[in-house]
Amino acid sequence: MVNGTKKILSSRRKFILSMARTTGLAVLGGLTWSAYVSEVKSSPLILRPPGALAEKDFLSACIKCGLCVEACPYNTLKLAKPGDDKPIGTPYFIPRDIPCYMCADIPCVPICPTKALDEKLVQDEKNKMNIKKIDMGVATVDENSCIAFWGIQCDACYRACPLLGEAITVEYTKNERTGKHAFLKPIVHADVCTGCGLCEKACVTEKAAIFVLPRKVALGKAGDHYIKGWDKKDENRLKDAKSNKNRTGINKKSALDSLNSSMEDLY
Ligand code: SF4
Ligand code: SF4
Ligand code: SF4
Repeated sequence: MVNGTKKILSSRRKFILSMARTTGLAVLGGLTWSAYVSEVKSSPLILRPPGALAEKDFLSACIKCGLCVEACPYNTLKLAKPGDDKPIGTPYFIPRDIPCYMCADIPCVPICPTKALDEKLVQDEKNKMNIKKIDMGVATVDENSCIAFWGIQCDACYRACPLLGEAITVEYTKNERTGKHAFLKPIVHADVCTGCGLCEKACVTEKAAIFVLPRKVALGKAGDHYIKGWDKKDENRLKDAKSNKNRTGINKKSALDSLNSSMEDLY
């Protein structure tokens, strides 16, 4: 742990040095400067630490101090460097390299001095840290490259999931091609998945067939006007619904008069 912290501090020093060098170069070269500016903008595919505010608010609140990075005992979190194609100095993680191990006390969150990582977002109703409240993204299965969808037995992602049986379940279906085998397909439950990426890390395929995406990117949106009639909570939305009526006045003229007046309007 001490060695790990030293490693982080020395890599932070390297980072600050390289930042200084890059900024120096940026002053000299407009091209470098424009690359720097593009990396300051939000990135839709970036995965943030637990408790992160919505991306826009996160970017205005994070002061890039790196305290969350230092608090992480697994070296999961990194601060974006020039060339990472992410807003420079902000914390992120790449699950295929090092996933989030969902520490019970979630130490990366309370250390944040600006609430860019907000404890309230990872607490339950009793104000206790609860890993199930973590929402960094959602795992998505690429059915074309997941070998379980080919009929080969594999449950690596299922076994790796800390919310086994909740965030991922295995669906058994008959393999019609062979007639005697079963498909054991991993199914991710987006409402439970925290986006920790332990499944992505464990995936046996060359390029992970299950991978975490930010929730907004991973899931579609049906539109607020669709209501699930069988879901009481969703149906309650109807109570506050306001209807907007657009009325078109009925034309009192005869059909021939209307036709004549619209022809006059044309000339
Ligand atoms: S919960 Fe633990 S492993 Fe995950 S980012 Fe925070 S400190 Fe690191
Ligand atoms: S501790 Fe908070 S302010 Fe500091 S880098 Fe992490 S998210 Fe940003
Ligand atoms: S990212 Fe994967 S391992 Fe983590 S909770 Fe979701 S399904 Fe489970």
